[in-house]
Amino acid sequence: MESTMVITSLSRRQFLKGALAGSALFAAGFTGIPSMLHAMPLQPESSPFKLPPLPYADDALTPYISARTIGFHYGKHHQGYIDKINGLIQGTEFAKDPLEEIIRKTAGHPDNLAIFNNAAQAWNHAFYWKSMRPGGGGIPLGKVAQRIDVSFGSFENFTNEFTKAAATLFGSGWTWLVEDGKDLKIIQTNNADNPLRNRQKPLLTIDVWEHAYYLDYQNARNDYIAAFLDHLANWDFAAENLDRA
Ligand code: MN
Repeated sequence: MESTMVITSLSRRQFLKGALAGSALFAAGFTGIPSMLHAMPLQPESSPFKLPPLPYADDALTPYISARTIGFHYGKHHQGYIDKINGLIQGTEFAKDPLEEIIRKTAGHPDNLAIFNNAAQAWNHAFYWKSMRPGGGGIPLGKVAQRIDVSFGSFENFTNEFTKAAATLFGSGWTWLVEDGKDLKIIQTNNADNPLRNRQKPLLTIDVWEHAYYLDYQNARNDYIAAFLDHLANWDFAAENLDRA
């Protein structure tokens, strides 16, 4: 009861903040910066794909994610997926497709597993970097907060469910907040898999492959998940995704 009341009173304050943020975004749409709202193909161009710029400095997420982790994770792993997908699709029917099209066409086709894995990992990582920001985390604002309350009952329930999903994912993979029809859902995907193949709209993701947290947290995945939720989650990005067609 008590926690519900706390969240309700926070939501009321945040409604006002959210309304201000919303009008700022609305205004941005009329001043030539609409791409933030309509950038759903994160990488609309066809191959050769380029490593998308990191949305912040490599040390901007410290102390929760170190520059060293970013150096390997972004500079080596993400770059590696980009290099591999470019090599794999050269001269194939996929050479002119945007990344998301390649993912949709190859999902569930064992003959194209390597192409799917590398295309999906290239996409997932671009989405993951945007799912975090310096000074992020905590309770979301406005529409995202309302949708979470409707689908999970409370932000506290959401946090518990998200933490459990990310913590119990066996092996390598991802945990996502997605929009599925009228509901928001938390889903786990293994290895490179992502929600696009199920026509779910990704809103936010956490990478729970060991390479995402091992340098900073070793085997303490729970501490990494807590840091993501408390200090990193980019709820503005989740809201932008919710608004996308
Ligand atoms: Mn990763």
